[in-house]
Amino acid sequence: MVAEGHIGTPDEARRALNTGAWCVVVGSAITRPGTITASFIRAIETAASPEANAIGLDIGGTSIKAAIVTRRGEVLAPITVPTQASGGRDVIARSLLEATRQTLATANARGLSLTGIGIAIDAANGTVFAATENLPGWAGFDLRAFMARETPLPVSVENDAHAAALSELYYGAARGLTNFVALTIGTGIGGGLILNGRLQRGRHGFAGTIGHHVIRMHGRPCNCGRRGCLEAYVSTAALLHEYRTRAPEAALEGDAPAQARHIATLSLAGDPKARAAYTTLAHTLAEGLANVFNILDPEAIIVSGGLIEGQPTFLDELQSKTQSLLHFGRKRPPVILRAAAGHFAGVQGAAASVFLSCRGILP
Ligand SMILES: [Zn+2]
Repeated sequence: MVAEGHIGTPDEARRALNTGAWCVVVGSAITRPGTITASFIRAIETAASPEANAIGLDIGGTSIKAAIVTRRGEVLAPITVPTQASGGRDVIARSLLEATRQTLATANARGLSLTGIGIAIDAANGTVFAATENLPGWAGFDLRAFMARETPLPVSVENDAHAAALSELYYGAARGLTNFVALTIGTGIGGGLILNGRLQRGRHGFAGTIGHHVIRMHGRPCNCGRRGCLEAYVSTAALLHEYRTRAPEAALEGDAPAQARHIATLSLAGDPKARAAYTTLAHTLAEGLANVFNILDPEAIIVSGGLIEGQPTFLDELQSKTQSLLHFGRKRPPVILRAAAGHFAGVQGAAASVFLSCRGILP
């Protein structure tokens, strides 16, 4: 009896002889350098990057998302708990601890070891700056210190827009890119800069605040206190404004997100006023993106957010308008991509932040 196939090591050859083979044929393991090299690469990768998991948490105004995230970005056992923001800081903190506790229990039950806990929130350097009504009582709260007291694992806190950029870099549309800008568009505009493959946080954690660069001198008032910022023209509120200006007779019901969803549906159905509102937003956003392309000359700008989801023509309008505004635009067509990381991008990015704080887990 001749043993042939799947014998790749001297040990496997010996075992085949010991179990009764008369002789052993060793093929690819000797004759194919490609196969041999691949086995070395696999061994090196496993040694350099042990299996690692982290808990990722994403704190939003209405819900807290939590999950176990593997080094490769797989999202395991995701849960969503209400933020209960109206209850104030202590109630929100309890919701956060509850989401953490549930996810820790799941990791224990599955026998998964954890590298740490990452949290994505509207924060800079671990301290919450948000003075918005979304998270009442949180301004100035040292979230990292609070969580470090309450949990046994290392904690990292990442600005939510920065976390979204990390998620695109490692798990989304920017894999393979080293210079790009990620923008999340919703109630405002959040931005994350990746330069030379590294997230740029800036001195105080505010790098990438592209929503607050002025595109209209003496323009509309902005939450930051200035006038004419990009996010005063491109946001959920701006969409409602553009639509109402064109259709003052239209009856819109519900809160602002519900009204925006209604306009999105109208636009998809071909309603000319809703379409025009979106076109105005795309053309105004292009003013901001052309500035970013001029300043940084990135490989791409990646856009995401509820406002533009499901609007198939938005990206084309944005791309062509940006190109028309760009210095030498015809010779360097700007690359604008839709984000690939989905609903749990913040959770993945928060986990990536944990992995980056340990050597050898992420490249
Ligand atoms: Zn502003």
